[in-house]
Amino acid sequence: MQCSQCSKTSVVELKYSKQFLCKPHFTRLFEKRVRRTIRKNKLLRFDDRIAVALSGGKDSAVLLKILNELTKKVRTSSLFAITIDEGIAGYSENNIEITKKFCEELEIRHYIFSFKDEIGITMDEVVNKIKNLSKAAPPCSYCGVFRRNLLNIKARELEATKIATGHNLDDECQVMFMNFIRGDLGRIARMGTYTGIIKNEKFVPKIKPLRECPENEIKIYAELNKLVFNSKRCPYSRYAFRETVRNCLNGIEEKHPGSKFQALKSIDELIPIMKEVYKTGELPNKCEICGELTSGGVCKFCEIMGEFQLL
Ligand code: SF4
Repeated sequence: MQCSQCSKTSVVELKYSKQFLCKPHFTRLFEKRVRRTIRKNKLLRFDDRIAVALSGGKDSAVLLKILNELTKKVRTSSLFAITIDEGIAGYSENNIEITKKFCEELEIRHYIFSFKDEIGITMDEVVNKIKNLSKAAPPCSYCGVFRRNLLNIKARELEATKIATGHNLDDECQVMFMNFIRGDLGRIARMGTYTGIIKNEKFVPKIKPLRECPENEIKIYAELNKLVFNSKRCPYSRYAFRETVRNCLNGIEEKHPGSKFQALKSIDELIPIMKEVYKTGELPNKCEICGELTSGGVCKFCEIMGEFQLL
């Protein structure tokens, strides 16, 4: 099929805008969208020191590529990558190898921290332990808490001003629906392109420059730019509630193209309202055990570590 904007052959069909685009026109649209998200939400400052959470997947590879090109233009800002090794056999090793090579290629400083070294337990060991716990949550609930905790601590130690993550349009819609279905409306207040309790020195704010990019377009962009990424899914992802929501939203998008963009629009209208209701700007408490930030007395990380008798 011919590109809707020139005479070249198209490489992608965007059903939501009824367009077929060739490689140059798709690349232009994709990068323009990321730059617009950054500009509109003031995600980058000239003196930023960005820690990019690099997982080995397509989203963070695309994010690193684009941010690297942008920060090179602004010479006063700098960038480095952090990879967390969760310790999942047959999955994590690939991620480490891919991220190492990618950072070498781009000449970007790369820090790798593992669950085993920093926390004392791998995800495979966590899964073994929770098999014996009757009310245990799915593996991702543990992994998410560990990863967020470690990423924040390490980014802070490395004096990052922001953590950039590869969250995309699909992720945002999935999280919104998950919070909604679980009745966890307070969490909606914490969503958005720029998240974090900015004034607290213990917390490194997070930015999501790919938040308006559909997951399938990120994959196409990565492939067109010959980025190497791990296309294998984590073996524990199938236990996550997110998988059900993902399939459901993909079904809606398939039948009604543009639904995810519309959902994001609704999320963005809802966030300021929920922020007012749940007042997330207030300073949280310090965890009684580790001193990291928490909304209660003991943070989720220490709660889990206590459950596993690792404290
Ligand atoms: Fe961790 Fe779940 Fe992601 Fe696997 S799918 S890496 S367990 S959060």
